[in-house]
Amino acid sequence: MRHGAFAYTWDLVGDPSAAARFAALGIDTVTVQAAYHSVRATTAWHPAHRVVHAEHAAAYFRIRPERWRGLRPLAPAWGVDDEDHFGTATAALAAAGLRSEAWVVLTHSSVLGRSAPELAVRNAYGEVFSHALCPAQPAVQDYALTIVQEICEQYDVPALVLEACGWLGFEHASQHEKTSGADLSTCARDLLSICLCPACAARLTLDVPRLAADIRTIVDRELQQGIRAGATLADALGTERADAIYQHRRDVITGLVREAGALPGERDLLLMATDDPQVTGPDVGVELAGFAPAPAAFVLKCWDDEESAIARVKAAAARTDVRLVANVNALGERPEELSALAAGLVAAGASELRYYHAGLASPARQEAIRLAVQEVS
Ligand SMILES: [Zn+2]
Repeated sequence: MRHGAFAYTWDLVGDPSAAARFAALGIDTVTVQAAYHSVRATTAWHPAHRVVHAEHAAAYFRIRPERWRGLRPLAPAWGVDDEDHFGTATAALAAAGLRSEAWVVLTHSSVLGRSAPELAVRNAYGEVFSHALCPAQPAVQDYALTIVQEICEQYDVPALVLEACGWLGFEHASQHEKTSGADLSTCARDLLSICLCPACAARLTLDVPRLAADIRTIVDRELQQGIRAGATLADALGTERADAIYQHRRDVITGLVREAGALPGERDLLLMATDDPQVTGPDVGVELAGFAPAPAAFVLKCWDDEESAIARVKAAAARTDVRLVANVNALGERPEELSALAAGLVAAGASELRYYHAGLASPARQEAIRLAVQEVS
């Protein structure tokens, strides 16, 4: 049983005791931030800082300018100065006997979305979601695959965990979010998440202007009159149009996974996914059954209550033979229940666990991770 934990590069770079502290959790793997969106994070033990504010999405691996065409990630200007945050972090982990995976966020970058709005997700009103690069855009695909390629060429990591390998939609976790008061249903949010940018419009086998008009009508009815959009996109738009949208998403996401897998180097690709094609977000919504080419594993987010998380893993295990990795939240309300949750997820079919998050966890949560690793084998 492989137990791993997520970590940021700034948890490790400049802190000579961090890798040993992670090893003391009993884990064998650390999923290390290699490309990541903006965030504010605490660093409880770091000799040089307590709060890191990553002000924009950045690449933590070495950026070789000549390798990039068009979109290029920015380097971080926070944490401890280092030419190669990812390389320094993974070297420290290797010295402590720990295996590193590259944690790669592909399409979530507000800084790039703002600089190239023509490459960002565009809803049925023509409004740009600048936090979300559209993966149907060839330039975004090129950017995402260059990230994967640059990591594979420069680092001897056995696996990459792909986050946001598809569309981010209307949801955008932000402390300044002011949309909840509109009481939008899940279906209306999913309607607002459908990208109709030129690349998507060209690939969707639908009457796109009519689709956009219908989405606007349905969402406006909900926003202005409180008439619910329905439960699913099929309810709201008809089965044929919902299926065409899912087919388009599947084609793009499987295309990215296929091309990433074809890049040189023997690396496992682990895909953060949700077994529901209606879902957009960091865990891409896809039918797990029949997903081809199969990644080395699907990483399933298990951050909600124990019963739902276990049911999700059990359902996924019944739908696919691909290995399942449970992404377990150690930052939840009851860290003392982490061991029971981990055991339940393994019994339900998860063959590996990744605890979120070794750098952010308080001492009590670190202890909960340590106990879960000890008790679940
Ligand atoms: Zn698009």
